Amino acid sequence: MPATVMDGTALAAEIRAGVAREVSELGHVGLATVLVGDDPASHVYISLKHKAAVEAGIDARDVRLPQDASEGDVLALVDELNRDDEIDGVLVQLPLPAQIEETRVTYAVAPQKDVDGIHPVNAGNLYLGTPLHVPATPAGCMELLAAHGIDPAGEEAIVLGRSEIVGRPVAMLLLQAHATVTMCHSRTQDLASHVRRGDIVVAAVGVPGIVTPEMVKPGAAVLDVGLTRTEAGIRGDVDPAVAEVAGHLTPMPGGTGPMTIAMLLRSSVKAARFRRGVLAYPSL
Ligand code: NAP
Repeated sequence: MPATVMDGTALAAEIRAGVAREVSELGHVGLATVLVGDDPASHVYISLKHKAAVEAGIDARDVRLPQDASEGDVLALVDELNRDDEIDGVLVQLPLPAQIEETRVTYAVAPQKDVDGIHPVNAGNLYLGTPLHVPATPAGCMELLAAHGIDPAGEEAIVLGRSEIVGRPVAMLLLQAHATVTMCHSRTQDLASHVRRGDIVVAAVGVPGIVTPEMVKPGAAVLDVGLTRTEAGIRGDVDPAVAEVAGHLTPMPGGTGPMTIAMLLRSSVKAARFRRGVLAYPSL
């Protein structure tokens, strides 16, 4: 029997409707998205995020700087947004142009406003098991599992990829949910032997079709995060034939991508609650 489709588009629509209700209860939620330069994929991502935020009633500010903006320009903008009382959340779209050191910018965003969850204070709290802001794609993966009644407790979870925005945080969330977690990366030997143990597999590599049906344990829940634009269209890390073996599988597109946007909106509401003191954010 083919895998149950974990439909991210439908779940994201429900979450976005919930966010819209929360925004109207709060009265105002402000999100600034910052795009520096001309990266075509980043333009698409920022436009989607901005549109979704507006649709949810969020006061979304679309701030753009030119490709030749200096690190000082970006840091000055971030500082201004940190101090702006109309802005609850700040998202700086990555990658940044080569003349700007990314960590200097991501570290400069006020932790309370860091809706991407990549500031060391937020990453550290996730590591400690006390999450505050959490990166959106990993949060979306956990929502997809929960929506399908998949409890990671005691399960073998195999994460492919160890980036700070997907692999590491999703591994931490799975660990917090009491899975036994294995992290795989480019130096992992015999990837298939690890993936085959997985009751839950999260693929966040960016190599189309790296997860093949032979590698997947029958009945496993497989979340495809990797996204590669090819001449034949968008390809995920998971070979579509995995649907014949897995118990649950996210479609690509229409799985983890829409969830990422929905979870960003949810983070913006959380940021508004942190700033109003409705939710506690530890003082630093
Ligand atoms: P990244 O920073 O490039 O990280 C890729 C990871 O994959 C690295 O940890 C790398 O290992 C590992 N890797 C590379 N080749 C491998 C191989 N042959 N076997 C095992 N591991 C391998 O990328 P990212 O930002 O995490 O994104 C990963 C993918 O997800 C990309 O395709 C991206 O476009 C996509 N993405 C999708 C969404 C969504 O919403 N669906 C959101 C974010 C990202 P090393 O650490 O050893 O180099």
